[in-house]
Amino acid sequence: MEEIDYHSIGKIHPLALANSANQRDINRIPIRIKIATGTYILQRIEAAYNQNNVDPTCKLCDQAEESLSHFLLCCRALDQFRTPILKNIIRKCSELPALQHSNIQLDILQLIINPFHYACSAESENDISYRIEPLCRQLIYKLHNKRYEILSKMDLISSRRKMNFKVS
Ligand SMILES: [Zn+2]
Repeated sequence: MEEIDYHSIGKIHPLALANSANQRDINRIPIRIKIATGTYILQRIEAAYNQNNVDPTCKLCDQAEESLSHFLLCCRALDQFRTPILKNIIRKCSELPALQHSNIQLDILQLIINPFHYACSAESENDISYRIEPLCRQLIYKLHNKRYEILSKMDLISSRRKMNFKVS
């Protein structure tokens, strides 16, 4: 089995590569990288680093801490956007011979964060690049946009309330 050296000089990690010159695909890369490197800011992370007692509870559903797994896999407020893409990812994985070895236990969270974790050869890296990673990017970008959209609406409502409060 060939070792993949992601650190070789001059080689860009496949997570950061555009699969096409399509602007839509290129736009998805920065968010994708943040998810992969653990620098995407969610309530739990904000709560851990902020001095001002930030509540780690997910603002979208108010049901649990907003961790990466909550955001990517569990948050009910994002279910309808997540489910179709997630199903697609799971189906594609079941079609890839490289991911079918009995000794590979697929962790769906790990898969979304970095599917190249499961690349065991140059060929499987290529398969993941073209068949799995685009779906992971699509999922992450969709969830990111919907989360942002919902939070912006909430901010708007709460700032209107504050304004009304000042007036009355
Ligand atoms: Zn939630």
